[in-house]
Amino acid sequence: MNLIQIGLVDTTGHIDAALIRATAAALNVQVARDVAPFWAVHASVFVLPDPTHVPPGVWPVRLVAELPPPEGGFHLTRHNQPFAKVKATPDSDHWTKEASHEVIEMLVDPSGNRLKASRSIEIVDGRIQDGPGEFEYLVEACDPCESAQCAYSIQGIAVSDFITPNFYDPLATPGTRYSFTGALNAPRQIAPGGYISWIDPDSQQWRQLQYFDPAAVPTIVDLGLDTAASMRTWIHARMNSRGGEATAAAATQRNGALFQSAQRRRSNISISGVARAKNYF
Ligand SMILES: [Zn+2]
Repeated sequence: MNLIQIGLVDTTGHIDAALIRATAAALNVQVARDVAPFWAVHASVFVLPDPTHVPPGVWPVRLVAELPPPEGGFHLTRHNQPFAKVKATPDSDHWTKEASHEVIEMLVDPSGNRLKASRSIEIVDGRIQDGPGEFEYLVEACDPCESAQCAYSIQGIAVSDFITPNFYDPLATPGTRYSFTGALNAPRQIAPGGYISWIDPDSQQWRQLQYFDPAAVPTIVDLGLDTAASMRTWIHARMNSRGGEATAAAATQRNGALFQSAQRRRSNISISGVARAKNYF
């Protein structure tokens, strides 16, 4: 088994250490229990105590205080090895869902170049439906269902929904899951707040369906011809130069109920943890 090591590391020095530990534990559960059965990826997520020490083989997920638009999300080192940056501030726990998003996408496509051919999509009367052609989609496992509305919680930590390989099926079949939570009810559907990118078969240029504003209808935009070693890196840079990712983050509805119930659950788990620990004395 190819076990990947992912190190969650706070570069700011201001994030609650207990929350970071709980997040690493929850991401371990998510990867092993929820992601592995669908994507056959195996990883161990742990807390990397010191950002200045990254042992060989570890892919860091760096919690950073500031994330200028061109720097969001997924990256490659000078040796083309994956790592991620997630903006985290002490006053919010929303970063846990972003960390989950980046961990899953790194595992499913470490190089940011994985393409999957499937039936084309188009927008008709404001709705996403199958088109007559075939697209090569960039496999970004969380983007179609990245909204906090699709997120769920593990041991009181909010984590991201993700697509399954059936997302690329030619048609919907009963009982099939297209995203882990069931937020998507057919292949190649994009939940409000999400997006997807593909290569247009005629022009060979990138196009993107954006559904950043849940109140508006989805739109398809041209991104041009990619010019970077990693297509995902290139696409994120293109989106950011147009305010895309920033727009997405701003427009994505916050799921206050999920984060509040996650917080309540964490404090309950903490209280029962104290009671339970007495069994061992
Ligand atoms: Zn993504």
